[in-house]
Amino acid sequence: MAKEMTCPICEAEIPLEGDEESGDLVMCSYCKMTLKMVKMKDKWVLTDEFEE
Ligand SMILES: [Zn+2]
Repeated sequence: MAKEMTCPICEAEIPLEGDEESGDLVMCSYCKMTLKMVKMKDKWVLTDEFEE
């Protein structure tokens, strides 16, 4: 099932394949920022904060 995320930097919508897992990295094609996907409860969020 395809998902769409909103870039926290530029607020562009980022289409996803739908098989991403928590912790995967995606790149916003608009601002070129690398973002980490994190699943919080049943909602996916993108963060530019990397803890590792
Ligand atoms: Zn962006």
